[in-house]
Amino acid sequence: MASALSGTARVAVLERENLPGYHATGRSAAILISSLGPPEIQALTQASLAFFKQDHGFGPKTPLLRARGLIMIAREDQREALAERAEEMLAHKRAVTLEAEEIRLRMPLLRPGYAVGGLYEAEARDIDLPGLMTLHREKLRHDGSELICNAEVFALQRHSGLWQLETAAGRFAAPVVVNAAGAWAEQLGALAGAAPLGLESLRRTGLFLEPPEGVTPEELPMVADVEGRFYLKPEAGRLMASPADSVLSLPGDVKPDPLDVALCLDRLRAAFDLPADLPARRLLSTWAGLRSFVADGVPVCGFDDRAKGFFWLAGQGGCGIQCSPALAALAGALIAGGPVPEGLDPEWFSPRRPGALG
Ligand SMILES: Cc1cc2nc3c(=O)[nH]c(=O)nc-3n(C[C@H](O)[C@H](O)[C@H](O)COP(=O)(O)OP(=O)(O)OC[C@H]3O[C@@H](n4cnc5c(N)ncnc54)[C@H](O)[C@@H]3O)c2cc1C
Repeated sequence: MASALSGTARVAVLERENLPGYHATGRSAAILISSLGPPEIQALTQASLAFFKQDHGFGPKTPLLRARGLIMIAREDQREALAERAEEMLAHKRAVTLEAEEIRLRMPLLRPGYAVGGLYEAEARDIDLPGLMTLHREKLRHDGSELICNAEVFALQRHSGLWQLETAAGRFAAPVVVNAAGAWAEQLGALAGAAPLGLESLRRTGLFLEPPEGVTPEELPMVADVEGRFYLKPEAGRLMASPADSVLSLPGDVKPDPLDVALCLDRLRAAFDLPADLPARRLLSTWAGLRSFVADGVPVCGFDDRAKGFFWLAGQGGCGIQCSPALAALAGALIAGGPVPEGLDPEWFSPRRPGALG
């Protein structure tokens, strides 16, 4: 979001770690799925597309989005869940239905007979996350703003219209503080005397697998269980998988639970024809990250009621990367003025909206 403001204001990004993207951002699956989440999130995703497709003059010369496609698959006992999902996705023209044979043609790794039907979202795209982060860093530098790492904020107080911040990298002063502290946003809010949001962090596990011999992952779509029990997607020559777990956790540098890894491998083996030596040789790495939510699952973007000049940019859940361009533009408009992105109502994201606090 900092680079959305740096053209009109001087911005300092204060990051506790020694590099940006160490937490949720760097641990994501980096996919854009238009049908994901409630209508507010779908509107953010739509409003973000133009940014991803535009040439900004910064960052990589290659496009930030690459075609991937997503198939949601259902077993015989999941027909009801498939019908519910289909109603929603077909109504918004976000997907088409696929028969079992069509699914196997698109995803030959799937075990014959496992999926009886599915939904295909052709518009699901890979996001070039390193490229996106480079773009923002280059824009910040170009605009004369700064990214300061090893700068944990441990105290902040407002005096004479300015926030005074005590950080591990020294003191800073600013009229506006944007709280983009991810899973720690509630803690930072408390330091500023802001009204609590009831933010919760849910741990999610990721795995990298070596693909079976003769399989070119880049040609495969992402495949997800229709009830959210697992997903599998190509990622830089490997396969990335998750049991799509959501375990309530305290903010921190979370690690994967071996039980979630085992569960993921079991579900994958049931669905896909994967080599027998899977965990021993082909499990390349595992990790976990935190997705943070308020009660209604919609991100929070707006000034706090109690703490003047304290701006929330939190609760981005499982879609913070795909929604980041529109959410950043909305935050920029609310802080510095300017047009609100088309199709968005700032009230949907207000910390005071009914439902945000449950
Ligand atoms: C496994 C997994 C898969 C995901 N897949 C996707 C996906 O495919 N698509 C998608 O769009 N989203 C996905 N997400 C969600 C996405 O990663 C998050 O919504 C997004 O990264 C949140 O960004 P953030 O900047 O709010 O949080 P973070 O990236 O966690 O950044 C917050 C930063 O604040 C810093 N910080 C905290 N407290 C302080 C302090 N006191 N002082 C200074 N710095 C501080 C932290 O060090 C951290 O770097 C996924 C998440 C996970 C875990």
